[in-house]
Amino acid sequence: MPDYVGAIDSGTTSTRFILFDRAGQIVASDQREHEQIFPRSGWVEHDPLEIWQRTCQVIESTLAKANVTAADIAAVGITNQRETAILWDKASGEPVHNAIVWQDTRTDRICRELEENRFGDIFYQTAGLPLATYFSGPKIRWMFDNLPGLRERAEKGEILFGNVDTWLIWRLTGGKHVTDPTNASRTMLMNLETLDWDPQLLKILGIPRQILPEIRPSSDPDFYGLTSVDGPFGAEIPVCGDLGDQQAATVGQTCFSVGEAKNTYGTGCFMLLNTGEQIVHSRNGLITTVCYKMGNSPAVYALEGSIAMAGATIQWLRDSLKLINHASETEEIARSVDDAGGCYLVPAFSGLFAPYWRSDARGVLVGLTRYVNRAHIVRATLESICYQTREVLDAMNADSGVPLTRLKVDGGATVNNFLMQLQADILGQEVIRPQVAETTSLGAAYAAGLAVGFWDNLESLRANWQIDATWQPHSDETTRAEGYAGWKKAVTRTFDWVEE
Ligand code: ADP
Repeated sequence: MPDYVGAIDSGTTSTRFILFDRAGQIVASDQREHEQIFPRSGWVEHDPLEIWQRTCQVIESTLAKANVTAADIAAVGITNQRETAILWDKASGEPVHNAIVWQDTRTDRICRELEENRFGDIFYQTAGLPLATYFSGPKIRWMFDNLPGLRERAEKGEILFGNVDTWLIWRLTGGKHVTDPTNASRTMLMNLETLDWDPQLLKILGIPRQILPEIRPSSDPDFYGLTSVDGPFGAEIPVCGDLGDQQAATVGQTCFSVGEAKNTYGTGCFMLLNTGEQIVHSRNGLITTVCYKMGNSPAVYALEGSIAMAGATIQWLRDSLKLINHASETEEIARSVDDAGGCYLVPAFSGLFAPYWRSDARGVLVGLTRYVNRAHIVRATLESICYQTREVLDAMNADSGVPLTRLKVDGGATVNNFLMQLQADILGQEVIRPQVAETTSLGAAYAAGLAVGFWDNLESLRANWQIDATWQPHSDETTRAEGYAGWKKAVTRTFDWVEE
């Protein structure tokens, strides 16, 4: 058996390729950003061909760096930004439009019409999701409504749909058109019980079934396909793991038991709670999703609290407001003040996701006085990440009835130790960061490695999870309660901003 498993992590802002060894340790990696395209207010696009190019580049450079060839790699897994929709021409492989990214709000009107026609309940019961611009289904519909002749071509079988996982697998394997239940569960088109495309939901959205990929297990011993010889690996390697990024992080954090949860701090923030083989519908604004499906074992489900703007708000401070030069500066700047000076930033830039699901909301900075300075605003930005997480955690505790006592964290922004302490203070709970912070890639590697017997079973993976650091809450109850009450009030100021 070769010594490594490779994971492609195609994220919202960048693509990574990481080689892992049997202990789940990183052997080599590379990462490249891709362009964020903002054609209009509220619209966010990526170029699918650029994502493919970046993928090839990071694979080639990682193999060169580690002096590893395809023969040393047992399997390849993929994890990806979810919900981002791509349609392409089956014959030429050319995308028909830029990828419409999960953060994009252009499908507002489509979602509103579905709501007015009282389809909300069907989608919620069947797919576990609220009607929101977030998911892929309305994005596909938008392309059919706005690109002349596309529907006819799709009906003739000339067009394929995929989220980024499907697009990359199709390119890597020379044409295998597949996805897994975790990605499919974010399209608004999959039935959570049958784990297949749902004819009624397809009909409501007017989406022809022939454009959709085959749904295969997240870890597939039958392999989705082999990497093609003329691709970036230059040889045939089984491609046999596929998990949406947040589910991959849950697997990478080894949250395999009912009641285990993790929170990932990347572009957005995403908390997932393993609910086992049970499909739990939230009463508190969370969504129901597939957590993973390993081989022939039954699917495991999760409750998810999705927050659209977390690390992306830090990028906005850097790129749009130019208040900072690097994300890492936020730590020192925020530490220089005792609090946020009474101001709150609510980054409802794509509306509000969990637990509110308000597409009419837009961002606010409130509580401003002459006292408030740059450091307060930077601190309020970090606090916004922690307060949004607190709201999701409260919803999760209310839904599950069993309060979480500690929070496992990961993602790019968890390098910020001040943010982690702030999170423990705002939650009043312990926060734990594992040694391998690249849990998303690790989860994809686990899915692929399990499929080829590189690892034996889920339980054996737990030994690879080691604590790096923990943070205990230091704040007192009164300060915590007052701060949270202020946050809740600030959130109400974002509502009803965009005309419905
Ligand atoms: P994704 O996978 O969604 O692209 P990552 O997990 O790579 O995201 O995390 C990148 C995000 O983390 C960026 O939005 C960035 O602003 C944020 N980030 C990186 N370093 C820091 C830091 N030191 N403090 C706060 N946020 C940070």
